[in-house]
Amino acid sequence: MPSAKQTGCARPARGTSMPLVNGSHAPVRLFCLAVLAVVVEVWSLGERTAGSEIVGKTWPTPSDFDLRKRDFLGAAQRFAAQNARPERKGPGSEAKRSVSGGRQARQNPYPDRQVVFCSMSGVAAPAQAGGSVESDDTAARDLQQRLMASGHERPEGDRCPICFDLIELPMAKHSKTNACCLKKVCNGCIMAARRRGMNDRCPFCRTPIPEDDAPMLAMIRKRVDKGDAEAITLLGEHYYYGDLGLTKDVPRAIELWTEAAELGSIYAHYHLGHMYCTGNGVEEDKPRGIHHWQQAAIKGDVESRHNLGLAEYENGNYGHAVQHWMISAKMGYEQSLNNIKVMFKEGQATKAIYAGALLGYRDAVEEMKSPQREDAKRLGV
Ligand SMILES: [Zn+2]
Ligand SMILES: [Zn+2]
Repeated sequence: MPSAKQTGCARPARGTSMPLVNGSHAPVRLFCLAVLAVVVEVWSLGERTAGSEIVGKTWPTPSDFDLRKRDFLGAAQRFAAQNARPERKGPGSEAKRSVSGGRQARQNPYPDRQVVFCSMSGVAAPAQAGGSVESDDTAARDLQQRLMASGHERPEGDRCPICFDLIELPMAKHSKTNACCLKKVCNGCIMAARRRGMNDRCPFCRTPIPEDDAPMLAMIRKRVDKGDAEAITLLGEHYYYGDLGLTKDVPRAIELWTEAAELGSIYAHYHLGHMYCTGNGVEEDKPRGIHHWQQAAIKGDVESRHNLGLAEYENGNYGHAVQHWMISAKMGYEQSLNNIKVMFKEGQATKAIYAGALLGYRDAVEEMKSPQREDAKRLGV
């Protein structure tokens, strides 16, 4: 903000500091009045600009796209590599470490991109092609009602299959997924398994974790061949990043996510939402992107819900935006809570709404805590 203030101050000050009135005190008075006017204008500008910047800073960038959901084979592999006996270290474990590092390094593939601006307008129109304006309005209203009434609970896939608690958000930070069973196991249960000496096996299904890319990919492909929607989504992610020995192929990733979405994968819908809204590897089609986020949000996907709030906010539909963010804040999504706070400060949401979101968020976060998860955080698992 200092630059805006400096710019705003300097220009008018130069333009108003040359009094044209004769008299010993008049120029001084005019100068003082001009300075006062400039100060008031700069203060006002500063307030306005600060408000809009606060909102922008709290909005997520598409980098969330790959931070979420899963850190595929991350912790277990890293732990195995760190604790491997000397004789087990070799080209395999070196390769594994580099894969881990690669995953960490590419966590933000869109560092320069800003907010995804996806207009909600026209979203309901495709379903009503050829229909009247009235029926379009009714369809849009029905969709809004369905959206707001559904997806208040996170999907079962967001629960750790060992302790049954919902995984903290973002899930990629607080859980790991193994290729064997594709279950997301929370860091607390991973740490407990390690304490029992289970370092090189999946803590859920106990399958030995392969050290090389090829057997991992084979495990995923085996599930893909059986039509497992989550395996198809995961294979799409590996094509998107070009890892596990695959050549990066975004169109193939989109193809796989489309198939997985049709089979009901919430995560595939989420990915497709980003792809179509940003035009990343596919022709930009924002209504289609929004449609995918709606499908995921209706099934309880928190980040898709949050993004729908962003789209409504961008479109000036503050009422809908706050409703979406209230739902995702109450599911424990901090960015949604922050945005409601900004709206409250800007006079776009009431204090009661902000208080409700804050309490709901705290409850959700509290429910996701457990002693072993707190231990895992302390130990950096
Ligand atoms: Zn757990
Ligand atoms: Zn497993």
